Amino acid sequence: MIIEQSASRVAIVTGAARGIGAAVAGRLAADGHDVALFDLDAANCSDTVAMVEAHGRRAVAVACDVADEAAVARGVDEVTHQLGAPAILVNNAGIVRDRTLARMSLEDWEVVLSVNLRSVFLMSRAVQPHMRAMGYGRIVNLSSIAALGVFGEANYSAAKAGVQGITRTLAIELGPHGITVNAVAPGFIVTDMTRAIAERIKMPFDDMVATMMRDIHVGRPGVPDDISHAVAFFADERSAFVTGQVLYVAGAPRG
Ligand code: NAP
Repeated sequence: MIIEQSASRVAIVTGAARGIGAAVAGRLAADGHDVALFDLDAANCSDTVAMVEAHGRRAVAVACDVADEAAVARGVDEVTHQLGAPAILVNNAGIVRDRTLARMSLEDWEVVLSVNLRSVFLMSRAVQPHMRAMGYGRIVNLSSIAALGVFGEANYSAAKAGVQGITRTLAIELGPHGITVNAVAPGFIVTDMTRAIAERIKMPFDDMVATMMRDIHVGRPGVPDDISHAVAFFADERSAFVTGQVLYVAGAPRG
């Protein structure tokens, strides 16, 4: 059976105020979906709301710390009441707290594991009853090339490798219910996150780009739309036979 066109669905994108999350929200709206935008401060999502609405789709901004169990439950309830049951979930919210092992505090470890990994568990668990009831779902998780190991990122690389593990396991558990679970693992993408890393290590951003370009073979650094395009593929109804996969989007062979 060939599905000609994806139906319009309700999507949730976490960390949607800016960067990759904002680009994903815009792309899903362009693909015909209504989008709930989860971020710490709903007011910061106003530009993303406008972008979704410019595509003629509905948007709702939800204040939600995705590492907080109660906040996640409340947020998913709010979306269900305002837009309808979520059929697409993009677990995008993430943070870094880079330090070498000797300098890494337990708090640096815990907060990075919580926002990048516990959130995937909490959000996926909260949406799955809705997806099971529909017999349909698309979950896309943001991993990273850091899952393969990066100096100074023991916490972040552990979290992003964990994201790949939960992706494969949920693909096995949820597949029989029509729910696919996949991950996109970006390489170096120009966003506030990478700008903040350059600032923290006191390196001019252009110098950081030049350094990263040594491992990129397509002649330019990544941009958020490179990632939103990969997410949109996994989120598409026609990608029903693709599950438990990790797609590296890094301008170079990875994985
Ligand atoms: P970003 O520019 O820093 O944006 C992250 C967004 O997530 C922000 O809006 C942030 O809100 C939000 N957020 C942070 N903690 C949150 C929480 N607890 N609950 C809800 N929202 C929260 O990051 P990005 O570069 O777009 O990265 C997006 C994803 O891609 C992350 O998972 C990241 O690890 C992954 N990734 C990025 C790169 C890259 O090169 N940029 C590479 C590989 C993987 P505030 O502004 O309020 O903090």
